[in-house]
Amino acid sequence: MKFGGTSVGSAERMRAAAGIAIEQGRRRPVLIVVSAMAKVTDLLLDTLRHAEGGDRAGIEENFRALRARHEEACRELLPAEFQEAAMSGIGELLAEFERIAGGILMLAERPPRSVDEAVAIGERLSALLIAAFLNSRGTPARAVNAAHVIVTDALFGNASPILEHTREKAWAVLASAIEEGVLPVVTGFNGATADGRPTTLGRGGSDFSASILAAALDAAELWIWTDVDGIMSADPRLVPSAIVLDEITYNEAAELAYNGAKVLHPRTLAPLVDKSIPVWSKNSFAPEKPGTRIVAKLASGRQTRAVTSMARVALVSMEAAGATISGTQVMARALDALARANVEVLALSSSSYRQNFCFLVRGEELRAAMESLESALALELAHEYLKPLEVDENVGLLAVVGEGMRGTPGLAGRIFTAISQASVNIIAIAQGSSELTIAIVVRRDGLEKAVRAVHEELHLGNGASVS
Ligand code: ASP
Ligand code: MG
Repeated sequence: MKFGGTSVGSAERMRAAAGIAIEQGRRRPVLIVVSAMAKVTDLLLDTLRHAEGGDRAGIEENFRALRARHEEACRELLPAEFQEAAMSGIGELLAEFERIAGGILMLAERPPRSVDEAVAIGERLSALLIAAFLNSRGTPARAVNAAHVIVTDALFGNASPILEHTREKAWAVLASAIEEGVLPVVTGFNGATADGRPTTLGRGGSDFSASILAAALDAAELWIWTDVDGIMSADPRLVPSAIVLDEITYNEAAELAYNGAKVLHPRTLAPLVDKSIPVWSKNSFAPEKPGTRIVAKLASGRQTRAVTSMARVALVSMEAAGATISGTQVMARALDALARANVEVLALSSSSYRQNFCFLVRGEELRAAMESLESALALELAHEYLKPLEVDENVGLLAVVGEGMRGTPGLAGRIFTAISQASVNIIAIAQGSSELTIAIVVRRDGLEKAVRAVHEELHLGNGASVS
């Protein structure tokens, strides 16, 4: 089971999370993976930025907030006889963080590996508190730093697991603890390279940590506890009639996550597919609700499931100035430049001969994308083989997802009609060959309207089948 930041965001929430773990642990062996307390990762990263910028006052202020937050949780959570050990554990972890931040202050630079080592302290703090609480309740538990279990490559800040090595360590460290009757409380988000350099798996990566461990330990199920009732047919803030989906496929869930649904980290499902380990997305604030089950194949018919949207995106357009330059080659080099800058292409669309094409990136990755493209294609741009790159930030992405999209004639037509009837202009369309998702780029100010129109047209609020 994995508990996200809001599910461990206070002493009260930690108590609820531990309660769930204890209850489930009576029925079957359980391991839990925890995020840092809500907002702590942001606070840690912000502190490191202050350190890089030489802002001592900013660092001090953040330290105080960090200390207060965890000491308060500790006081509220633990009985007196468990306080001292936990407080001194918190003190040691905070000192470790201060030491790294101090190094960054001196260097006036944030080396990625130091950042990864420092931000993982948020998860180590929450794991320490929850393990102490479980012990205080008579459930033997042990906080485990995932740097000793999850082996990754060296792509700091966005590392990928090396599953074979992770498997060995997971069995040695975690399965043996479970066998002794100890409940492991593992830090989400972090890992280390084979030679021990600390890494993290990307923002929101605790989901991914949990699925890596579930696969490594051949878990029967993975439960992801969040603060919403499950995976929904749309963002309920945009679409009041949105519903919680009972069951969806790995592919659908992954498409939804990639297209902006915040409920799962996009890489979460990949490690589980081979073994078909089912995943539950559940609400720790309402554990009695069933949540959404994510499985390899659906028992019921194929459906159109959900519509998601992303507002902070940018559309980059490229165009060859004449036929002297191959559009396909330009596209290949552009994609290569984006991959090297670690920029994700959310959607891609091109003219027949690729003389012009456009792609969508996240707003926060736009700068890195442009720098990388401009340097990779500097000569072509300078000699005007390529027209200047154009960027449009006034756009939004809408994606309709569902296994039932495959081979249902007329569906795309209905979607486009619904969007145009809402007077929203469609700028670009992309559909992968899996036909699981249609991604549509629209004018930013029409995005919410378009989401509502599509949800309504496809009756997603009834969980209705399309065919
Ligand atoms: N604490 C990390 C983050 O905020 C990882 C996670 O919560 O999944 O990104
Ligand atoms: Mg999360």
